[in-house]
Amino acid sequence: MPPVETAATILSTIPYGETSKVARLATRDMGVVSVIAKGARRPGSRFGAALQVLSDGAATILPARHSDLHTLTAFEIGRLHADLATNIERYAVASVLGELMLRFAPHDRQVETYDFFRHSLDVIEAVPEDVVAVVGLRSIWGLVKHLGFAPTLGACARDGIPVGWEDGPVAFSPAHGGVLCPSCARTVDVSRLASRDLRDLEVMIHGHDDLPALDGRYLAAHRRLLDRYLRYHLADGATLPALAFWATAAWQGS
Ligand SMILES: [Zn+2]
Repeated sequence: MPPVETAATILSTIPYGETSKVARLATRDMGVVSVIAKGARRPGSRFGAALQVLSDGAATILPARHSDLHTLTAFEIGRLHADLATNIERYAVASVLGELMLRFAPHDRQVETYDFFRHSLDVIEAVPEDVVAVVGLRSIWGLVKHLGFAPTLGACARDGIPVGWEDGPVAFSPAHGGVLCPSCARTVDVSRLASRDLRDLEVMIHGHDDLPALDGRYLAAHRRLLDRYLRYHLADGATLPALAFWATAAWQGS
């Protein structure tokens, strides 16, 4: 098979053997793949310091015929995203995005998903400090939407009956994937979301460049909601450590 040249972002790396590394890459053309970078830990390796988590660039991959471990023959660095590390919340959001790609994207080979992920890293790295939190929420919900499991907000997630937001708090079930009509809500465990929360959620998921105005209390509630929602979409026993760190805003000491 001929080598594939593709835009790629490093999601994780582990040492392999004496001198090599195995990396998981989000790629534009092959989805999320595992690659071996032979000799990457040798001094003077052609990969240099390029194989850093969350750095992106142009990868040349030799597809394996009979295994899922392909060979990385070159990685031309584009952006190291070093500025993500200047602010712990930026880094936390970027890590959650990477974690979601690792966990949910292997079966998603849509170019748009990769492009959104890569663009989100650029945005999170560059936005002013005072909007990192809300832009982070929007980026994570946006990636959830691209991965195909955004919550249903306008109709009952169980039976499709339209659900209005005007008459007080609306039942929301992470397990069912969105809002529930009153009769379905009686049968399961739900959270209650005010119409303001639902409008904010809709803006973050579907509002493109718009941002809701969220103060600290609302931000904390929205982080917890997103955390609960994602947990229901994990396989048994799986954990998302970056998500847990971000959702509790552990760096704020509260
Ligand atoms: Zn219903």
